[in-house]
Amino acid sequence: MSTNPPGVVVVGSINADLVVTLERHPQPGETVLGRSMTVLPGGKGANQAVAAARLGAPVTLIGAVGRDAYADAALAGLRSAGVRLALRHADAGTGVALVQVSVSGENSIVVIPGANAEVIREVVESQASLISEASVLVLQGEIPAESIAEAVRHAQGRVMINLAPVIDIDRSALLAADPLVVNEHEGILVLEQLGVRDLPTAADHRRIIEALSAAGFASVVLTLGAEGAMVASNGTVEHFPAPKVSAVDTTGAGDAFVGALAARLAAGDSLVSGVGFAVRVGAYAVRSEGAQPSYPALGDELPGDG
Ligand code: ATP
Repeated sequence: MSTNPPGVVVVGSINADLVVTLERHPQPGETVLGRSMTVLPGGKGANQAVAAARLGAPVTLIGAVGRDAYADAALAGLRSAGVRLALRHADAGTGVALVQVSVSGENSIVVIPGANAEVIREVVESQASLISEASVLVLQGEIPAESIAEAVRHAQGRVMINLAPVIDIDRSALLAADPLVVNEHEGILVLEQLGVRDLPTAADHRRIIEALSAAGFASVVLTLGAEGAMVASNGTVEHFPAPKVSAVDTTGAGDAFVGALAARLAAGDSLVSGVGFAVRVGAYAVRSEGAQPSYPALGDELPGDG
């Protein structure tokens, strides 16, 4: 038996984000000069693992990087947050996101999954005992669908699925999510995937979360950007408005939210109180640039405190 319970186990993506700032986006066939380039750690799995670890949870990340120079950059945030790593060193290159940000704040992003596509079912199966010891297992949509289903098969604790991006996964694995965490657009795509007809519009948040609950999820969390989040569990729906902040960069706010919620669930909080906390962590993360560098540590004052 383990003397060091893993608490939160994340199975997910690890990327190096190559962030280029430029005056305006190039047209096809055109070359423009950029202003600067920064290499930042990213990937939804890594972001969520870092967010949870900075908030005091013991966290392990199962994932893959290449044997290239980007691997160190991609792992830097995980290492400094003290996340335990169960890594496959893949033949493919480390996952990379090419992010172009214009001065007007418009983004265009190209993601090359690289090593993340090598987090195949067998890799997950080889970590079955680690997964089975997790009190909270956290999954997203940036690794192969069969690997998500495999991780769910080994889980004995709570399973959180943040199905972003929305990919087609095995129905019973998807419905094991407790909670499913999605934004309003992803929520509609999940309903579609489950064959629900008469889909709500993206503005009808209450109908989206009620339809997801009716489709069979034990609990659902709907994140709503500046409007905060809704949580449905045990037949009730609650809305937690986000504290008002001046938003500088919303990149990775959803991942901060998911990591914070996982940390609180692993510490024994109820889902509703965990969502109340995660909404404030998400608001904290939009006040400064980047994903991982914008996440709070335990003890940092959150907006809406006091
Ligand atoms: P992303 O993919 O950009 O990370 P997402 O769609 O997964 O985002 P959001 O719903 O945009 O997730 O944001 C997650 C949480 O972050 C919200 O529930 C909220 O707590 C916080 N948040 C996001 N934007 C703002 C904002 N403008 N002001 C305050 N809080 C915000």
